[in-house]
Amino acid sequence: MKIICIGRNYADHVRELDHTREVPAAPQFFMKPDTALLRNNDPFYIPSFSRDLHYETELVVRINRVVKCIDERFAHRCYDEVGLGIDFTARDLQRECIAKGLPWEIAKAFDHSAAVSPEFVPLAALGGDIQDLHFEMALSGRTVQRGHTADMLFGVDRLIAHVSQFITLKIGDLLFTGTPVGVGPVAPGDRIVASLAGRTLLDFDIR
Ligand code: MG
Repeated sequence: MKIICIGRNYADHVRELDHTREVPAAPQFFMKPDTALLRNNDPFYIPSFSRDLHYETELVVRINRVVKCIDERFAHRCYDEVGLGIDFTARDLQRECIAKGLPWEIAKAFDHSAAVSPEFVPLAALGGDIQDLHFEMALSGRTVQRGHTADMLFGVDRLIAHVSQFITLKIGDLLFTGTPVGVGPVAPGDRIVASLAGRTLLDFDIR
């Protein structure tokens, strides 16, 4: 399986990273390998190579069929469950890579950089509209991110249509759909608790 992550999909988050940056004209994505998975609410260990390790809380869509070059109108047929994830990011390394015009992998694709909720919830149980889901994350008891999927710059079906033009999506692939405003650093001793439509799906410690 593979993990596809969308960058800059909420306008307020784009501006918090760089006031001068414009919102993208088309979806932007990058990938993490399967070794990036962090499952079962296992603790996240901050890697020694970063001094500015950030959380990004994201809606995660699990792909349930093989699709290539799917039209946006039909993209809803290739998922029926959603969960939550944390796209852990070595922000210091990412800034260095961007400044040098280099790829981002060391900042985004390292081991355990993709925390994924143990449970995925049938979309039908959440009202059926993937563009009307609320989620939030509390860091050590303080709510730091609140997202509403209606605020995505590119909706999930558009994302799937776009990515599948270039890369075949397969059963079990995970699509991280971008983070809303409020990203920030984690420190040892922190605890991440994130909920989707009022259901707690992520609850794990930072060490
Ligand atoms: Mg992200």
